[in-house]
Formats: sequence, C-alpha cells, structure tokens
Amino acid sequence: MSTTNNQIETKLIHTATKASPDNQTGAVNVPIYLSSTFHQDNFDEYGAYDYSRSGNPTRQALEKTIAELEGGTDGFAFSSGMSAITSAFMLVSAGDHVIVSEDVYGGTYRFITSILNKFNISYTFVDMTDLDAVAQAVEANTKVIYIETPSNPRLDITDIEGVVKIAKANDCLTFLDNTFMTPLYQKPIELGVDVVLHSATKFLSGHSDIIAGLAVTKDKQLGDQLAFIQNTFGSILGAHDSYTLIQGIKTLGARLKQSTESAYKIANFLQSQSLVEEVFYPGLTNHKGHPIHVRQTSGDGAVLSFTLPNVDVTKTFVEHMKIPVFAVSLGAVESILSYPAKMSHAAMPKEEREKRGITDGLLRLSVGLEHVDDLIADIEQALIEASKQVKVIR
Ligand SMILES: *Cc1c(COP(=O)(O)O)cnc(C)c1O
Repeated sequence: MSTTNNQIETKLIHTATKASPDNQTGAVNVPIYLSSTFHQDNFDEYGAYDYSRSGNPTRQALEKTIAELEGGTDGFAFSSGMSAITSAFMLVSAGDHVIVSEDVYGGTYRFITSILNKFNISYTFVDMTDLDAVAQAVEANTKVIYIETPSNPRLDITDIEGVVKIAKANDCLTFLDNTFMTPLYQKPIELGVDVVLHSATKFLSGHSDIIAGLAVTKDKQLGDQLAFIQNTFGSILGAHDSYTLIQGIKTLGARLKQSTESAYKIANFLQSQSLVEEVFYPGLTNHKGHPIHVRQTSGDGAVLSFTLPNVDVTKTFVEHMKIPVFAVSLGAVESILSYPAKMSHAAMPKEEREKRGITDGLLRLSVGLEHVDDLIADIEQALIEASKQVKVIR
C-alpha cells in the first residue's frame, strides 16, 4: 500500500515502515541496522548497501520519510541541524555570494561569518521581510538565497514565493530552514524552494533526546549533488538516532497541533499583560507578517517570543517560572523558556543582536504539552514577581 495520496497526518505514521518493510517478520517498527558494512554476495556486482556512511537501511527509511513529507525527491539525515545546513552550503563554490536572512539562527550566522568566509564566499544579510531589500542584495555571483521563516527568535515572516521569484529571475537557488513549521504546517518545495533544511532536534523528534538534522531537495539533480556531499563530508545520522527520529515523527501531528493551540492562548494572554511590551507570534492578527504567514502555511506553530522592560525584570521573571525548563532548544514535549541574547544568539555581537531586535529583555517560549492553564498560571505569577522588580527600580 502506498501512502502517497494520504493526508500528512497519515504519512507521518506509516511512511517509514512502508519505505523499509521488514518482510521477514512484519515488524511494525523499522529495524535498527547496527552494521557499518554489508556482505557482498557477488565478486563484481554489489548490493544496495555497502558501507553505512554511504547508506544505512534505518537511516534510509528516515530519509525517504522526510522526502515524502516535504514533497521533494531526496531526503538526507545528518548528525545535527548544523551539519545539514553546512553540508547544503557545500553546494556553493569559492567566488560565490550568498544572501541570508538577517534574523537567522545563531549557529548559521556563526558558520557564514566565520567559516564560509574563509573559502572566499561572500555574504549579505538582509531583512527578508522586505522583498526590495532582497532584490537589491542580488549580485552577479549570487548563488543562494537563504530563508528562515518564521525566523528565530523574532518570528519574522518572509514571503517565500516572493523570494523564490527573485531567486529564479537571477538564476540562484533558495534554501529554507523549516525547523519552526515542519512539513505539517509549511511545504516550501511546493512554493518553489530548492533545498529544505531542518534541525530535527526540535519538533520532528520532539522529546529533547537527540541531535539530528535533515535536508530535502526539490529535484534529483540537486539530490545527487547533496548525496555526494553527504557521503564525502560524512556527518551522517547514526542508526539508533535515525530510529528515535522516525518514532518522534510519528507523533508530530498530535504534538504540534496541541502545542500550537496552547501557544495561541499564551500569546493572547501575554498581550493582555501590562508588563509585557511586545509579543511576537505569527498567529496574532496584529503580527506584521500575519497575512503572508496565513497564505503560505497551515498553522502558526508553538514558538513565541516577547519582551519585558529590561534585564532585571527579565531575570526575575525567569527565576520565578516553575514549569518550563530554562534552556536552549525548542520543539519538545516540555515547554522551554530561553534567553536568546545569552543562549541561541550568544555567537552574535551585541551590536548585531540589537540591530535584529534581540534585546536584553527578549524571551522565547517554546510551548510544550503541559496543560495550558497551568502554563498561563505560572506565567501570571512570575509576571507579578517581575513587576515588583519594576517598582524597586523606579
Ligand atoms: C536548533 C536550530 C538549528 C541548529 O540545529 P542543531 O540540531 O542544533 O544543530 C538550526 N536552525 C534552527 C531554526 C534551529 O532552531
């Protein structure tokens, strides 16, 4: 039975096992193939698998799953989101130029500004909510336009089709980091994007247990190039973690929908609080990118951010929050509160950070699966404690 025509919720459950059925036992779960090498029956004709860096059956079930979910031709599993992203950037060559979303993930910023630049690849960061700025940043040697939408941590929205149009007119590729939306809510390849990237550490695995990255290409030609890079660069995902990620993907639909519903309620609650200066959540009708987001996605996601007046108020608030873990990362069953200035964006100089609105009062909340009323009550009591801090300062 093929699952190709089914809804994504159904595909999330069945694709991996269908892609790699265990005909000997009928096991409902994909077996974990802990084998670095594979016996070859013939002297001069080799089987589908020879060495696990080049291909492993467990990893391949996962790779076929993400390709199917994203609607691309080829999927690739890497040892981290960063290795998926950096491997994709191996598609460019010395002398090329890349355009990158200004509000990009801190690790991606670090890679572009301190590694990629060493290979004579120039870059321009632009505010991708402004299509004119994107068009103006294009140079004769621009090879890639790199999109992150919603962006991290300010949830800025980029018009994907708008950027794709500029890229196509200038003969360059588009990459998109789809970590926040996942294919459940956003299908970049359908909108013309060439390479979709994921930190599967986040929503796709969903349980704060593994570090993993995924990539999907729009066509076979790019797929062949990325397969060559994956095998050559070698930062593949192991069989155990591939299995864990396949299991995580199965519950993505239920998890992300529940967390999104809670995130919407929390964003509205935060907006009603006088101590909270600004709330960034694409599901809010007053969010700048809301109309574009609604057009190009089917959900708002479980990540929001908000600002408090200053670092002391923020510190007091965090110290009084009892339910969420205070940590880097996002997209898990437990809510995760993080402080971008010192966590995800610590690699960015303060000046660059503040230009991007990542101020000392900005907090990001990834909403988990706790009861939303418990989360709101927790936020409410921490805000009361934090507001005492404001009075002390005044
Ligand atoms: C976490 C994250 C990454 C990096 O992924 P790792 O799995 O930590 O290497 C990249 N992009 C976004 C949007 C992320 O949240």
